[in-house]
Amino acid sequence: MGIAKAVTIVNVGYRSTNYWVVSAGSSRLLVDIGWPGTLGTMKANLRKMGIPLHEIRYAFATHYHIDHAGLAEELKREGVPLLVLEVQVAAIPVMKTWTKPGDGYVDITEEGNVVISSEQSRQLLGQMGIAGEILHTPGHTDHCVSLFLEDGSVFTGDLPSEAYASDNPVAVASWKFLREKGATRVYPGHGPVRPLE
Ligand SMILES: [Zn+2]
Repeated sequence: MGIAKAVTIVNVGYRSTNYWVVSAGSSRLLVDIGWPGTLGTMKANLRKMGIPLHEIRYAFATHYHIDHAGLAEELKREGVPLLVLEVQVAAIPVMKTWTKPGDGYVDITEEGNVVISSEQSRQLLGQMGIAGEILHTPGHTDHCVSLFLEDGSVFTGDLPSEAYASDNPVAVASWKFLREKGATRVYPGHGPVRPLE
């Protein structure tokens, strides 16, 4: 394994939702995958930020809610494999129950999905030149996961921030876990980047 390059992080989000492109050079991971029916917007934002779609090695959803994984199947059709944590598999078919016919949602099939365990994530990311791992961080849903980078960045999706999680011991435990891992900077699914106090 080569020495990991410094990663860059770019937000290609829209409609109050952040979609992060984490890159080691031209080896890129998309963290959260757009609202249903918005492939054109996603493509336009990637273009605007100078990110060729074909350089995205995987798309990855922190959790399977429509604002975070709505374009997963369409991006697979564009050649971007879907990276799924084992703990998320059962949640994928449930997502369509939150969509309406007019949303333009394309149902996620199992075909072409790359399913890995949290333990396997470090190696897969390492092959991309990204030093980090994907961790199970329940608290918003039971199947929520976070991308943690060795530089302290953590992508937490909708894990409720600690200020609002006092009645949510599962979320509090997830933050404790992330802090023990070395997380110092939070890239949430909605709202600005913030330090982890
Ligand atoms: Zn959300």
